[in-house]
Amino acid sequence: GQTNFYRDTWAEINLDALSYNIEKMRQHIGNDVKLIAVVKANAYGHGDEDIAAAALASGASYLAVAFLDEALALRKKGINAPILVLGACRPIDARLAAEWEITLTVFQPQWLEEASLYLLPDKKLKIHLKLDTGMGRLGVREKDILKKLELSIKQNASIHLEGVYTHFATADEIDSTYLEYQLSHFHKMLSYFDERPKFLHLSNSAAALRFPSTHFNAIRLGISMYGLSPSPEIEEDLPYRLKPVLSLHTKLVHVKKIKKGSKLSYGATYEAEEDEWIGTLPIGYADGWIRRLNGQEVLVNGLRAPIVGRICMDQCLVKLPNEFPVGTVVTLIGRQGGASISVNEIAKKLDTINYEITCMIAGRVPRVYK
Ligand code: PLP
Repeated sequence: GQTNFYRDTWAEINLDALSYNIEKMRQHIGNDVKLIAVVKANAYGHGDEDIAAAALASGASYLAVAFLDEALALRKKGINAPILVLGACRPIDARLAAEWEITLTVFQPQWLEEASLYLLPDKKLKIHLKLDTGMGRLGVREKDILKKLELSIKQNASIHLEGVYTHFATADEIDSTYLEYQLSHFHKMLSYFDERPKFLHLSNSAAALRFPSTHFNAIRLGISMYGLSPSPEIEEDLPYRLKPVLSLHTKLVHVKKIKKGSKLSYGATYEAEEDEWIGTLPIGYADGWIRRLNGQEVLVNGLRAPIVGRICMDQCLVKLPNEFPVGTVVTLIGRQGGASISVNEIAKKLDTINYEITCMIAGRVPRVYK
């Protein structure tokens, strides 16, 4: 985490909440199922290094990221646990992955052939085969390709097949028809293997929470580790309560009373309807607090106050219910006393999903770990 920073805006990351969410999932899946902590995209905006370390200390035994770059960044920060890259890598980078003991996702025979040219026999590359059972992004879709991959892996001394996996498209929806279709498709494709590798993993948070038949011997835990529901429609029916990990705060850096009729911010679009107390916040769209959040409320002293006028690159304005001193903490996401603003509220305001909200909090916002 960042300890030295000189602006009054920060994201607080509650590692106790993270541990709690992981422990609840550990109890839910039992001892025979491994937990792969998904820490791609800077751990969904929570900070990859601290989250990876805390997740490993709380019962995760594997990490997953989207790109090789993210895996290398974790290695260079001293994270030694196994890391799986979920996305596609270039064959030419197979050697680098092997050197850093990073596991790659493979699904094309051609990739394997090319990658082998770069590998050294004394530094094996660990791979997981990805099956496309219905998501349609990456993965093997046909039996003959799967058999071809299996054979060429067997013949290649520098490659070790450690896992097979797939990804669900609809695990967070009430209707489980498509999930069941993908699950049975996975079973069918598994039956084509001569030998099953060590790890079989399918479940994201939603599947892990809702369908024990999808657990196999490992799950890939993302959003619910961060204390957020995979979708609003299943939130009521989760097997345990989640604790949100991230909250976002700033402080009033300027407070003034403006006269009725005064105008505020770019475009002078906001006009005070009466004499009003206005606070300035040092957070703007370059921090991920985008212009469409105009009108969104924040918490000041446990009360809701609306953002008024256009949100600027680094600052925005709020209409305060009364005067507050400079330095008063303002909460954009999180709780103040009995009041709270959830990530879901922001997602709803922006007509998107909670995943996108934590990811969009910019890198320049310091993360403070508690
Ligand atoms: N597995 C894969 C392949 C993913 O792409 C993701 C995230 O998008 C996850 C697992 C984790 O999903 P969730 O955050 O819904 O738990």
